[in-house]
Amino acid sequence: MTNNAIIEFYSDYNCPFCYALNERLIALGDSHRIQWRGIEHEASATSRVVTLDEKNQLLNEVTVIRKRAPEITIVTPPFRPSTRLPNRVTFAIKDQDQKNLSDFRTLLYRAYWVEGKDISDSAVLKQIASSVNLEYPSEDDINKPMPELDLWQESWMGDRFKTRLPALLSTDIDKPIMGFPTYDLLSNFFNGLKLPVAPDSLAACQLKPRQTILMVGQFDHNRCNMIELESAYNIVRIKIIEKAIQWLGKVDCPPDVILIHQRSTGRDGIMFCSRLKRDHEYRHTSVMFLMDKQNTEIEMEAFDVGAADVVFDLSNPKITQARLDAQLRNKQSASILDALCRLDYLTELPNRRDFDRKLEEEWLRATRTHSPLSVILIDIDHFKLFNDNYGHTAGDDCLRACAKIMATCIKRTADVLARYGGEEFAAVLPDTDQQGAINLAKLLCKSVEAEGIPHAKSLVSNKVTISAGVATMIPNQKYMPEKLLECADEALYQSKQQGRNQASFFQE
Ligand code: GH3
Ligand code: MG
Ligand code: MG
Repeated sequence: MTNNAIIEFYSDYNCPFCYALNERLIALGDSHRIQWRGIEHEASATSRVVTLDEKNQLLNEVTVIRKRAPEITIVTPPFRPSTRLPNRVTFAIKDQDQKNLSDFRTLLYRAYWVEGKDISDSAVLKQIASSVNLEYPSEDDINKPMPELDLWQESWMGDRFKTRLPALLSTDIDKPIMGFPTYDLLSNFFNGLKLPVAPDSLAACQLKPRQTILMVGQFDHNRCNMIELESAYNIVRIKIIEKAIQWLGKVDCPPDVILIHQRSTGRDGIMFCSRLKRDHEYRHTSVMFLMDKQNTEIEMEAFDVGAADVVFDLSNPKITQARLDAQLRNKQSASILDALCRLDYLTELPNRRDFDRKLEEEWLRATRTHSPLSVILIDIDHFKLFNDNYGHTAGDDCLRACAKIMATCIKRTADVLARYGGEEFAAVLPDTDQQGAINLAKLLCKSVEAEGIPHAKSLVSNKVTISAGVATMIPNQKYMPEKLLECADEALYQSKQQGRNQASFFQE
């Protein structure tokens, strides 16, 4: 076992998981052992043309990174650029100074994932190259055949990587890491240790998703032939329901379809479906039953507990794939609609509907666990005067900027910051006592002020400031969550009364 193994990093600049992994590799200080293997994940990606679906996909990916790697700064980019040019440029300069090259790749990632720049534009690439003292290649050098680049692409598209990104391959370990690993997993990998977790439990780029199908029960090959579908889907087979429940508890994303073998699971299979369908997390997972023979009663029961379909024969792979794809399309439309309903499009924060749902969920949880729950209500000071002075568009930019500053202050993944209304924001903080919530509210006020957005007409400062109101309760059945909001609103009123640009807490 050595610590000097070379690690090949199959990556694409327009993949947020690759960006985040690159940041983690720098933080670990092991970037000198990395050999870049640039590939194009989605050759059809083009700058500027963004459909709602694409925008939503980008947002979903960014949300996963924010959850899994809160330490990494990431901003949803306006579009997904083609990475053909950046890859070819990176290849053409690959024999120049290695340290500068590593900086070049990192700056390229950040230009796109933090600043939203178009990295398919040669002017952007030239500027980054010159900032790290690299010589930008000539047109001829960029356009010459690059068989090595083609080979990487081909090998990444082969069976070993199953077209998943990012992928790390060590000269020491046979099995690659595919997906976005935790720090622990990464350092074990770099030290030549075997992987402690199944790579399938890692988050990976969803650009070309291989959906996960969980099959629960004892399937008979004659009735259910999935062998030909192995490369189209990520198929997980678990015979016993208890084990399936354990597996679900361990994975990051719920499977797309759960196929239950009715006869071998019996009543437990029906109960399993019922339990899943009552769980918010599985609201978009289609549950299908495979039955051996017709039985109206059981069939009806399956639909009653939320099954999406009951089938009797999955022996023909083509038809099975068509059935699965129909379920997957339903799931995709439902989750896109769901995401859009929960999002505030101006600030890309959760909207009030999502905030209210989260507050209610956390209220119920805290009632059970008797733990403190805090809420902060935030209101921009003299925002009407800001709009009157700088115009509504500048007002919108200001709202976006405030949202971004405040979002970076919130580090705990359980905390949620939402746009509550016009120029009002709200945060719900589970398991947070009064002091913790006050500290955060003060930090929010300080951070917005420190950003120094000019507000010449404000009556309290010459910069944009906010006021905040904090309330904390140990929820009980006597009250509703609205009570907590009323208290925070009262505290916010106090902050406004006492001169704005400050945080107050509610005291009875
Ligand atoms: P206070 O310090 O007391 O909170 O004063 P204020 O001026 O911020 O409060 P007021 O409620 O009088 O005004 C809120 C302003 O926020 C008025 C409204 O036009 C503006 N606003 C609300 N939503 C948006 C938005 O989406 N974009 C822009 N540009 N302005 C908005
Ligand atoms: Mg207001
Ligand atoms: Mg206001």
